[in-house]
Amino acid sequence: MTRIGFIGLGNMGGPMASNLVKSGIEVTGFDLMDEALKIAEQNGIKIASDAASTALNIDILISMLPASQHVESLYLEENGLLEILDKQTLIIDCSTIAPNSARTVANKAKELGLRMIDAPVSGGVVGAHNASLTFIVGGDSDNVAKAKPILEKMGKNIFHAGNNGAGQVAKVCNNMLLAIHMCGTAEAIALGVKNDLDPTVLSEIMRKSSGGNWSLEVYNPFPGVMEGVPASRNYEGGFLNKLMFKDLGLAKEASESSNSQTPMGDLARELYQELMERGLEDMDFSSIQKKYLDL
Ligand code: NAD
Repeated sequence: MTRIGFIGLGNMGGPMASNLVKSGIEVTGFDLMDEALKIAEQNGIKIASDAASTALNIDILISMLPASQHVESLYLEENGLLEILDKQTLIIDCSTIAPNSARTVANKAKELGLRMIDAPVSGGVVGAHNASLTFIVGGDSDNVAKAKPILEKMGKNIFHAGNNGAGQVAKVCNNMLLAIHMCGTAEAIALGVKNDLDPTVLSEIMRKSSGGNWSLEVYNPFPGVMEGVPASRNYEGGFLNKLMFKDLGLAKEASESSNSQTPMGDLARELYQELMERGLEDMDFSSIQKKYLDL
């Protein structure tokens, strides 16, 4: 039976690890937060005393950490996991981090004879709970093939984007586009409303016309236009502004390191920075609508 070590049992990692347990896999986990460990233990995850002991006697190691610096320090620091993992272990990093950081860690892993893929996710906390995440994977095909049956226990769609780091690049491109069309959608609706249009009527017109996009289709940012979305519950829950702001920072980093032009992505980042400065970091990212309506 496949034995899995899971490091980072937070909002995403906790439910992902629980879904592995539910499908009959033995999971040993570790997190720095006692609260996360307590919930994980209740969900059948065996708790290790530290990251190093999580990495012993396993076939696959999964990490789900906040940002690049956490991943680099876990794997690359002196006595980091790359130094102690068994050579047969496949490492799957599901954290959303900078593509260059993912490549650095994967290259070091390769140098040491280890196998590693990046597999950031889309689908949020709800997707993590429902095992309906989308995994966007970068790495060698044979490693991706080995990871697939495990990823399928936590998600519904698995895309192989390319070599190591490609999963992170694709994730960053997707989220930059998401921010841009959410900002554009909020901007267009506000323009219509300030010119006396009904937001529901305008949304329906644009949804069925050439301005149609995912935000209009399933995630309308204007309060009251759509039921069941964050905009209709004061922007609570959903995908938080602080996470969108983080991802737009990663897009900027990737853009600069590849000499790409991303003026729209840069502007979206500035707009989300405004929300952060207003203290709205824990609201859903569709709350960008507030900027346009003085809400
Ligand atoms: P989180 O802060 O809830 O969880 C991260 C956990 O990692 C924390 O519990 C923290 O204690 C733990 N941690 C940090 N360093 C550690 C270490 N060295 N050893 C052990 N544990 C350590 O964050 P999250 O919402 O679960 O997000 C995790 C990743 O998933 C991030 O990269 C985020 O960008 C990405 N992501 C999040 C969402 C979302 O909606 N929350 C959606 C898609 C992607």
